[in-house]
Amino acid sequence: MAQVRKKVNTYLNKNEINLPNHEIISYFNRFEFDFGIIIRLSTRKYLFLTHMEKLFNHNYFMELAIREAVKAFDSGEVPVGAVVVYENKVIAKGYNQVETLKDPTAHAEMIAITAAASVLDSKRLTETILYSTLEPCPMCAGAILHSRFKLVVFGAMDVKWGACSTLYHLLQDDKFNVKIPVISGIKEIESESLLKSFFQKLRSENSGLN
Ligand SMILES: [Zn+2]
Repeated sequence: MAQVRKKVNTYLNKNEINLPNHEIISYFNRFEFDFGIIIRLSTRKYLFLTHMEKLFNHNYFMELAIREAVKAFDSGEVPVGAVVVYENKVIAKGYNQVETLKDPTAHAEMIAITAAASVLDSKRLTETILYSTLEPCPMCAGAILHSRFKLVVFGAMDVKWGACSTLYHLLQDDKFNVKIPVISGIKEIESESLLKSFFQKLRSENSGLN
């Protein structure tokens, strides 16, 4: 038990994962690398987490996508970031650059997809996972379908342009002969608050001009 606890803690620290407000009450370990923990959320609510590697990996890679989004923020772009992961490694990154490049197609996902295809020297990205801080739009969803990603993971929902859950679910549409699984809500709060503070900043700058 103590050994498993130590392993889990090492893993959490290594990946800079904090579970604030959650009390970990038990650990288990079925296989060498398949950790699980039981977290107490409130007096009566418990969260039973298995396959921690998978869960933590999603958080970890989304954190890297958020770092890309921060780069967009710093260059005055709507803060959206994306990374492409192949064999558990980041092979491509991208952040929104539509203003900088004066290019409406320069979304974070498009940039990351083009870079990933170039790294793998292939138009198909069947063994890769795309992480995006924001729900992909119809253009990016189209590129995702053409690339045949293994999985798409995104953070915040996009009520205006979201095409992977909110307005449309293009990656799971029966009319296409390709379907791509989607996981949403990974680091949703962080991804969304970055967008919110960007638009707040924009509004206060604009009101300063008037
Ligand atoms: Zn897009």
